[in-house]
Amino acid sequence: MLRMDQVAELQALDSRLAALQKRRRALDDGAGLHTTLVQARQAWEQARTGLHATEVQVRTWELEVESLAAKRKKFEQDLYGGRITNPKELESLQAEVNALKRAISRIEDQILGGMETIERERPEVVALEQSAKGQDEALAAHVEAYRQEVAAIDAEQAELAARREAMAAEIDELLLRKYERIRARAGGIAVVRVEHDRCGGCHVALPEGMLVRVREGDDLVTCEECGRILRPARV
Ligand SMILES: [Zn+2]
Repeated sequence: MLRMDQVAELQALDSRLAALQKRRRALDDGAGLHTTLVQARQAWEQARTGLHATEVQVRTWELEVESLAAKRKKFEQDLYGGRITNPKELESLQAEVNALKRAISRIEDQILGGMETIERERPEVVALEQSAKGQDEALAAHVEAYRQEVAAIDAEQAELAARREAMAAEIDELLLRKYERIRARAGGIAVVRVEHDRCGGCHVALPEGMLVRVREGDDLVTCEECGRILRPARV
């Protein structure tokens, strides 16, 4: 294998490795979906808590009505039982009964309003629960796909890294160091082809003598402008 072909092969492997790393970094790990899910769960929890509070409130009102109704029944028994005959006392009892009737009626209105709220909120809570569960499943599926993708990239990366190591071992040390040096300062690309008599890296026009030397083969020529190793144009 020509020295030129060796570094070109090394460059191809390094470029594929860099592309893989870039792809891996760009992968969406589901953080955005997770945030949305947390918000959906909060909305559901909030709605459920609100509904529960209304249900508790309605139950409290119902107990209150039961208690007031029992009281009213007792007053009415006294009122119509015939045991009490004093007109002033009867008048006072009647006033108590009337006040209780009004209080019960007021609370019953509140109960009605509360029940309307419950009827309205119950399907909302169910909808929010379904939405949160749907997002939960979507996130799980996304994370699973992400893990598979990461595993595939890691496997490919390991394979390429092994090939890269084997290739690097075949290249003489000085050339390898030169390659690494150029790659480090030239944006990861140390070997480029000649394109239309120009450097494929920085596009500077190359002198005829240099083009000839590049075409001749295993004579490592570097671009005077960008320092990259030049390969003959693709034929
Ligand atoms: Zn150049």
